[in-house]
Amino acid sequence: MQAATRITRGSACRSLSTRSALRVRPIIQQQQQQQQQLRFNTTDAQPVKKPISKWRIFKNVVKFGLVASIGYGGYNMYEQRHPPQEQGEIDPSKKTIVVLGSGWASTSFLKDINTDEYNVIVVSPRNYFLFTPLLPSCTVGTIDVRSLIEPIRFITRHKSRQVRVVEAECTDVDPERKIITITDNSDVKGQSSTSELSYDYLVVGVGAMNQTFGIKGVEQYGCFLKEVWDAQKIRTKLMDCIETAAFPGQSSEEIDRLLHMVVVGGGPTGIEYAAELHDFLVDDLTSWYPELAGKIKITLVEALPNVLPAFSKQLIDYTESTFKEQNISIHTKTMVKEVREKEIVVQRPDGTNDSIPYGLLVWATGNTTRPLIRNLMSKFPETQTIRRGLAVDDWLRMKGADDIFAFGDASATQFAPTAQVAAQHGKYLARVFGQLASQEKLEAELVTATTEEEKAKKARKLQKAKDIKPFHYSHQGSLCYIGSDKAIADLPFGSGNLASGGVATYAFWRSAYVSNLFSTRNRTLVITDWLKKTLLGRDISRE
Ligand code: FAD
Ligand code: NAD
Repeated sequence: MQAATRITRGSACRSLSTRSALRVRPIIQQQQQQQQQLRFNTTDAQPVKKPISKWRIFKNVVKFGLVASIGYGGYNMYEQRHPPQEQGEIDPSKKTIVVLGSGWASTSFLKDINTDEYNVIVVSPRNYFLFTPLLPSCTVGTIDVRSLIEPIRFITRHKSRQVRVVEAECTDVDPERKIITITDNSDVKGQSSTSELSYDYLVVGVGAMNQTFGIKGVEQYGCFLKEVWDAQKIRTKLMDCIETAAFPGQSSEEIDRLLHMVVVGGGPTGIEYAAELHDFLVDDLTSWYPELAGKIKITLVEALPNVLPAFSKQLIDYTESTFKEQNISIHTKTMVKEVREKEIVVQRPDGTNDSIPYGLLVWATGNTTRPLIRNLMSKFPETQTIRRGLAVDDWLRMKGADDIFAFGDASATQFAPTAQVAAQHGKYLARVFGQLASQEKLEAELVTATTEEEKAKKARKLQKAKDIKPFHYSHQGSLCYIGSDKAIADLPFGSGNLASGGVATYAFWRSAYVSNLFSTRNRTLVITDWLKKTLLGRDISRE
């Protein structure tokens, strides 16, 4: 058809005689008829439907999916970047909730709390939320710390009414006067650095601090892994150890000591750090420090008979065998008794003491309560008897004080101190406050109700609002990275448990954490970091 058109319209056609042009026309008509016949069934003249190939359907689904997710992500980022011009003013007629902390529990509470019903004030020494599950990746530069933090104002500026954010530490709670004392502990101070705030409800989400068991030298010589600055300190110290080992004139014992990286604690924090360090060594340090990389040793010290006590037996065995393959030594049933500047003193399974020289020591032996919590507990000696944290009832109300609530690692519940529990606590408590606000509204309406029918209706609604369900935890599973692109997962499955480990689990680990990140901005940054690491490798600069 196209060829024929070209003949009739093209310049060559103009030179053809009328006779030959007449001969061309029937050919075109013939071709058109043939094409029409092809499109129609010869017997009943029904159009023949061409089957759509599966590949085409798949391509279209991918295309639409991609366009939809880019559009959704773009819209999300735009919305995030542009908070509303106006937010409702703080309303003195409403009750005030003071939230302590900007971690997992407090942030998920802030996302869900209805600020039309309460005035909300957030007090935290850090003005951001930190996504802790990926923090071990920051110690070796797989992920940049900035990719894991979310300024708390990115959340509060999107609420319907203004939320006050105060960067300060709460140093005291006076439950009788319903007042807290706050102190600005940052480097830059104004005229006043201590103040008081009053509350109607206090929500305590200050988390926990690193456990040292009072072991001598831990604070002084060990590195913790809990906050952004901890990850930065570990990274600097690691590179410092390696560069110092390269300094001329070091004895071979001193090089071995400097290049011995010791991790204390075989819980998920210690395991994930050792795994990240191993990857850094294999992927990058071997290329840039060929003369030293072979001498770098990683040792993990654990007091119990095995690592990861909270995981299934087969995953513990899998982790231990993977560590063996990766040349990470595990010393189980070995308890650290003292930390000195260049060595740790350990008690071996047979009860004898031994010393292990180290260059870098990462201390990951779990959590203990913060001084603020201990101080608050001391004000309720009869009800606050659990040392792990604030004892709360099934509605997260602190035992002994009706207007104080506690959640996350700061509370002592039957659940492990994890981000999963803390996030669910936060969501749940926001719902509780929604019901408390409904209760108050309905109680006021009941008083002013005029007819019997109206009174009965309000009373029924009030009854419903008073029926606050206790906190219910839904376990989504436990994940842990174990190095060499392998992860382990203990997932709830039916009434039992599904344990899996390996490279496929690592893909699941990555997708689970990316989807759990709080914002599209963080998701984009983390994915970009992973891509950068794959294409360009990790940075080995000391800072
Ligand atoms: P946090 O998140 O610790 O937040 C406490 C907040 O309180 C902070 O903002 C802090 O600045 C603030 N604060 C402290 N003192 C005061 C004060 N005096 N006044 C006011 N504010 C104060 N859990 C998982 O479920 N999955 C994981 O993969 C996982 N990985 C982890 C990896 C690492 C390296 C670490 C350290 C922990 C990990 N966890 C994980 C555990 C998880 O991070 C904690 O359980 C979770 O952070 C607890 O949340 P939270 O809100 O109670 O406390
Ligand atoms: P942890 O309490 O889980 O483990 C600490 C380990 O240190 C224990 O196994 C303990 O036996 C050991 N230990 C204590 N004192 C010791 C000593 N003197 N010498 C040698 N070993 C000693 O601590 P963690 O790993 O920091 O985890 C804290 C919380 O955060 C846990 O609830 C954990 O589930 C959660 N977390 C979860 C993940 C994850 O799911 N991937 C990652 C990190 C943390």
